[in-house]
Formats: sequence, C-alpha cells, structure tokens
Amino acid sequence: MKIKLSDIKSGFKNKFFDIPTDSIPKRGTTFNSDNINCTLSASVLERNRFKLKGEIEAAILHECVRCLKLFNSKVTSAINFLVVDKLNDHIKIKGEEIIEILNSDDEFDISAMVADIVELENPIKPLCDNECLGLCNICGINKNEISCDCKIEKGYGLWENLKKLETKKY
Ligand SMILES: [Zn+2]
Ligand SMILES: [Zn+2]
Repeated sequence: MKIKLSDIKSGFKNKFFDIPTDSIPKRGTTFNSDNINCTLSASVLERNRFKLKGEIEAAILHECVRCLKLFNSKVTSAINFLVVDKLNDHIKIKGEEIIEILNSDDEFDISAMVADIVELENPIKPLCDNECLGLCNICGINKNEISCDCKIEKGYGLWENLKKLETKKY
C-alpha cells in the first residue's frame, strides 16, 4: 500500500484504507478476506518528521494444532511509525518503528510493514478453543465432535511411538 507524501505533509485523521491482501509480501499468513482494513492518521512533527498512527484489522485463517480444523480469527493491531527523511535525519529512537523515506519521493510503500505486523500477531500454536480436545491418537476422530471408546493401553502411548523414531544424523 502506497501513501502519498503530499497527503502526509498536509496531515490526515482516521483515513480509511483498504489493503488488498495479495498486495502485501507473503509471510505465510492465510487471509480469510480479500482486504485488510486500515485506519490511519498522519501528523507533522518538527524537522520534517511525520507520525503515522492507526490500526489494522485482518481476518486470518488458522489451523488448530490439536484438531487440525481451520478457524477464522480477527486480528487487530496498532500501527505507530515515525517517518523520517533518509538523507538528513539519522536518528535512533528507542521503541519507535522508523520508516525512512526520501523527501523528494512522491509516495512510499508500507506493504512490508503491514505484512510484518500481521505476522507478529500470529500465534505460534493456534487453538480453535482453549478447551479443544484434539484428535484421538488411536482412531483419529475429532473429540470435540464425538467421543470414542479408545483406550490408550498401558505402556503404549504417544511416547512409545516417539521412541520408535530413529534419530537422523547428518
Ligand atoms: Zn481445535
Ligand atoms: Zn478414538
């Protein structure tokens, strides 16, 4: 998504942007809608610096690590960037995400930043529900939907199967 520098320079408040999900770099996230909703405000700070603040909202498709079911989750994330001129402003401010631009540019692209923000919101182990019962190790049914009578025999469980795996040496 590109933002016009002239727009930033004149400032705007709560401007709505529709970011097509296929326009941002792929980071492994599966989206459940064609667009990411983005609301942004831009303000001018001293010395040709600009503040870009707002929020993005994306619908993401996850696979539950326990039952392997796909589920939709809505991710809302804050955007907070300091936009500085690449040539004249060599600042390092702790805790600030910085976008470097050229003051002579007409526009700049925030697609990569949006992709990063969405990616950071992705859980490492997505769960459809904290109480998800997962799949039966023996018959494979989804225990959230039906129950089965499978009993794990003593001494024969997940760990026994793991012991059978050979350790690959490289
Ligand atoms: Zn689940
Ligand atoms: Zn079972």
